[in-house]
Amino acid sequence: MTALRLPCLKLPTEATRLLLARCQTAVTVLCLLLLAGCASERSGAPYSINDSLKANGKNSRIDIIVLHYTASTKPSALLTLTNREVSAHYVVSDDSKPVVYKLVDENLSAWHAGESSWYGRTFINPRSIGIEIVHPGWTRNSDGDSGPSYPAAQIDAVIALTREVARRHGVAAENIVGHSDVAPLRKQDPGPAFPWKKLAQAGVGRWFDEAAAAKYQAEYVRNGSPDAGWFQKQLKRVGYSVPETNYFDANTLHTIAAFQMHYRPESVNSKPDAQTAARLRALPTNGSGL
Ligand SMILES: [Zn+2]
Repeated sequence: MTALRLPCLKLPTEATRLLLARCQTAVTVLCLLLLAGCASERSGAPYSINDSLKANGKNSRIDIIVLHYTASTKPSALLTLTNREVSAHYVVSDDSKPVVYKLVDENLSAWHAGESSWYGRTFINPRSIGIEIVHPGWTRNSDGDSGPSYPAAQIDAVIALTREVARRHGVAAENIVGHSDVAPLRKQDPGPAFPWKKLAQAGVGRWFDEAAAAKYQAEYVRNGSPDAGWFQKQLKRVGYSVPETNYFDANTLHTIAAFQMHYRPESVNSKPDAQTAARLRALPTNGSGL
């Protein structure tokens, strides 16, 4: 504005003030018009946005949280998760004071679950949050080795982070799951060393009614375990995708192993035994179970 005053300086004082006022008003209007014109030209949108009103009917698009292990060291995991076509929203490190790396915004899909199913919802990446936990992984050995345990500080970090994400999006207890739960034929993470019961006791995820399970187990030991059709119906009831073939096909046995990794980690053997049947029956369809 200062430069535009200069041509008016040689005029008489009163006239100068009047002219200056007119100059400034005219120039201000011109500037505003130019700015408005530029803004409209830049956006090119044939409408304007009014965000002063808000609707009540809404919820988060996130309704599942999937926990994974990296099966690698922290540097290797971070390199893979930031350079390849696989990703996760968060990585929880195994440092003595764990660091949570936020790699993908929660409003965006991360590519962590792949082909997956939970309570009939398939391809869950767009509706889930993926949390990777730095851990070397687990291999099934004949001696039942479950791999190294997760450090307590890391589990505390996972609990706090998962609880916060679940609260933010209203994720139900039964929808806080492992990768092996949603992809039982392909995945084994976060593995039987992962302390799901500790999470459930801290208000994160689901567990079974242990008193009821003990009662059911005694019943099955006495009368024999249920048949394949029963297992398939029950696994489906608690979220798993399993074919209803009425016999113990390979898919069903893999799914029983996935159930055991979560709810009977002390013995992952794919066997449809009395204890597995009892825990399955004592697991609530919805809610934490504790
Ligand atoms: Zn995974």
